[in-house]
Amino acid sequence: MIKTVFVDVDDTLVLFDGNTVHPYGVLEGRPYKPNLALIEKLNNFEGYIVVWSGGGRDYARTVAIKVMPEELRYQVSNKEMSKAKSGDIVIDDQKEYFGFLEAIGVYIFNPFEEWILKEEGEE
Ligand SMILES: [Mg+2]
Repeated sequence: MIKTVFVDVDDTLVLFDGNTVHPYGVLEGRPYKPNLALIEKLNNFEGYIVVWSGGGRDYARTVAIKVMPEELRYQVSNKEMSKAKSGDIVIDDQKEYFGFLEAIGVYIFNPFEEWILKEEGEE
């Protein structure tokens, strides 16, 4: 099965100063930087990539165009959590909201964690 990695936008794909959350931070003109370590992981990921945001599909696209490598293929989406299936990966700064997906076998990582996948003898 080909896995999908679902990547959150604010405070995950892009980082802002401070420890609070920054909804629509890019649109609001807050200074941000791309999460380069995460983007490199995505670039090396052999599966589907979905950049999704609670701010909606258009916001996800707006930010992804700014920070994702031009040659990298990905989709954009609103944060429709039912899209994530067992074995998929979710990267989000607010991991605490994804317990119900973790319970069905979705891997949930924060933006700075290593992706440790425990199936099929990987890792
Ligand atoms: Mg976020």
